[in-house]
Amino acid sequence: MCGIIGISNHPDAAKLTFLGLYALQHRGEEAAGIVSYDKENIYKVKNEGLVSDAFGEKDLEELKGSTALGHCRYSTTGSSSVRNIQPFLAKHKGNPIAVAHNGNLTNTEVLYDKLEEQGSIFQTSMDSEIIVHLLVRSRNEDMKQWFVDVLTQLKGAFSLVFLVEDVIIGARDSNGIKPLCIGKLDNSSYVLASESCALDLMNAEFVREVQPGEIVLIKNGNIESVYLPGSSETNKARCIFENIYFARPDSHIFGDNVYHVRKRLGAQLAKEHPADADFVMAIPDSGNYAALGYAHEIGIPFEVGIIRNHYIGRTFIQPTQFLRDFRVRIKLNPIRDVLKGKKVIVVEDSIVRGTTSRSRVEELRRAGAKEIHMRISCPPIKWPCFYGIDFPSKRELIASNKSVQEIADFIEVDSLKYLSLEGMLSVMKDTSGFCHACFTGEYPIQIPENKSKYLLEKVNGSA
Ligand code: 5GP
Ligand code: MG
Repeated sequence: MCGIIGISNHPDAAKLTFLGLYALQHRGEEAAGIVSYDKENIYKVKNEGLVSDAFGEKDLEELKGSTALGHCRYSTTGSSSVRNIQPFLAKHKGNPIAVAHNGNLTNTEVLYDKLEEQGSIFQTSMDSEIIVHLLVRSRNEDMKQWFVDVLTQLKGAFSLVFLVEDVIIGARDSNGIKPLCIGKLDNSSYVLASESCALDLMNAEFVREVQPGEIVLIKNGNIESVYLPGSSETNKARCIFENIYFARPDSHIFGDNVYHVRKRLGAQLAKEHPADADFVMAIPDSGNYAALGYAHEIGIPFEVGIIRNHYIGRTFIQPTQFLRDFRVRIKLNPIRDVLKGKKVIVVEDSIVRGTTSRSRVEELRRAGAKEIHMRISCPPIKWPCFYGIDFPSKRELIASNKSVQEIADFIEVDSLKYLSLEGMLSVMKDTSGFCHACFTGEYPIQIPENKSKYLLEKVNGSA
């Protein structure tokens, strides 16, 4: 999970990239980087932390040029050294090539082996470094053919932005797992962004999404496009979890507005699992939209039962026994006067490990809620993701080890219901063409041998 930006042909390329990353902050809070090019030199700034901390005013002044790439990274268990912050930048025969990646490749081991055999030396553990190696090895004057040749060697999920001198290139894997869209800044400058909310911030006009399997090459206000072989409508496997939780509700992705999709998920949830209560509330912020849809559908008032503190920053106090629930309470605080003695329907977008839900419910009880009926706007998450969503192993996914009733007992709610798979898919504008492997275990792209063994081990309960 990451956010990516590319800017073509604009005098404030790096500053716009910075703004774009600001809007994509939810896609990665761990580190951020910007690379820019002014036809003579290449500039880069990379730092750990939030976008607002990673770049100072001076950095943005020094990032000169009219083409730029940006990346913000989600914290994963991988190495967090500054070297591993994207965009990955290389110089080949004096010319810069940079790339920023969202998604996970599934054939990295094979590619590493092949490239190392041929003499490549790797400096980072990033997928994007592999891609740059592939690029410099097969350089072709015909840029479209060059990118087709390289990207057909990649398997897995990738939305990519590249800077090759003054050309900005964007690409999506042929399943279109991760989003990427094109915006227009003016007649001669374009932007590529993971989500359209980034275009809004920089006042760019939404042009369209990069299509699954499409590669777009942008220079001086011209867009050329080419498709990877084998891309077709029937291959689409867009990540449905982007719609459920990950993307921002003010974004337009996969042909739909995320806010409306979430409201429809909530309405469908109400149809499938109504309950009697004094009011409907959400676990903010991610549950807000489904909760609104649920309340509208069922005709029970929507109330705000929990207030979010927006000033938490990074919590640095290590919780001792005494401060055990500190992390939970600092962010969200229930309103006692709203909850006391009430029967409530609590809508949440998803349950992953179940631990935060459990603490929230405990807080709601402490605030006086009499009955808690929890409703989840997606099916039980039972399978890990190999394409970029940071879901833990099956062992940690509560729904792959417990029945719905056992989960209800664990989080201590009076009732717990999940949206059905069919119900979830039915509210999507284009019902086919989504990856729902985290619910069904039906992986649209073969997962690597070593990982599939690991999956089987978990299924058999030996790990
Ligand atoms: P749980 O109750 O499973 O511990 O936590 C569920 C909560 O985590 C939900 O509020 C959901 O919005 C949020 N969530 C779902 N997926 C992710 C994810 O991939 N990363 C993070 N940080 N939170 C997630
Ligand atoms: Mg949440």
